[in-house]
Amino acid sequence: MEDIFNVRFWGVRGTIPVADKHFMQYGGNTSCIEVNCGDQTFILDAGTGIHTLGQHLAAKQVDILFSHSHIDHICGLPFFGPMYDKTRRIDLWAGHLKPEYDLLQVIKHIMAPPIFPITPMQFHADIHYHDFTAGDDLRAARWLDAGVTIKTLALNHPDRATGYRIDYKGKSLCYITDIEHTPGMLSTDVAEFVRGATCFIYDSTYCDEEFTKYIGWGHSTWQQAVRIADYAHVQTLVTFHHDPDANDTALDKRHQQLIAARPGSLTAREQMEINLLK
Ligand SMILES: [Zn+2]
Ligand SMILES: [Zn+2]
Repeated sequence: MEDIFNVRFWGVRGTIPVADKHFMQYGGNTSCIEVNCGDQTFILDAGTGIHTLGQHLAAKQVDILFSHSHIDHICGLPFFGPMYDKTRRIDLWAGHLKPEYDLLQVIKHIMAPPIFPITPMQFHADIHYHDFTAGDDLRAARWLDAGVTIKTLALNHPDRATGYRIDYKGKSLCYITDIEHTPGMLSTDVAEFVRGATCFIYDSTYCDEEFTKYIGWGHSTWQQAVRIADYAHVQTLVTFHHDPDANDTALDKRHQQLIAARPGSLTAREQMEINLLK
């Protein structure tokens, strides 16, 4: 069987899903990315994109890695069909909640009447909840056997967030959202974490020109993505977590600016697939 290390985008939007026809080229679902490394399947965040992913998922065992639990990153979980399939094993990982909270507590909070009619006790899959501290290396015997390593990083975001670096067969995928940078500063912790990455996915909600309006909102800009990618000698930069107010025309324009600044960069869109082993 041919070896794989690929990434498929099921939701690329930040903050709130959009269903307007002028947003469909890039897609309206919130954060959800499928990653396959050999026989291991990972899902980065459970935004609304995870609903459709659940209808196509073949793997019987998956790990869901949460950047954090703001609603745009977790609201798809109750609608992820495999959670109700007793033949599956699903591990959920979060690094931003300790010590005040834990992941099951958060899911119970959003899946409870009168907000939602059922609770996580109705999940029938074999579910395992893992709370770690962002910055820890994650370990599981099955990843070790498969040759997959996962490192994490604490990100600057309200209520905290976690970045991930997945390494496999000498290639690496970095997922850094949601994060706010300080204007004029490089975020060297992020740059060192993503150094030499094959594929670097970064919160590019805004652009530098408008950023002063959004200080404290917890996000970053496509120009900051370029600065980090250049400094860290990343191979392919992918801008992600698009502003729900940025329609296809606006994102097309931003994409042209992006590839002028860093040729070969990609603007994430739904169903886009990247093969890291090619
Ligand atoms: Zn978000
Ligand atoms: Zn957030």
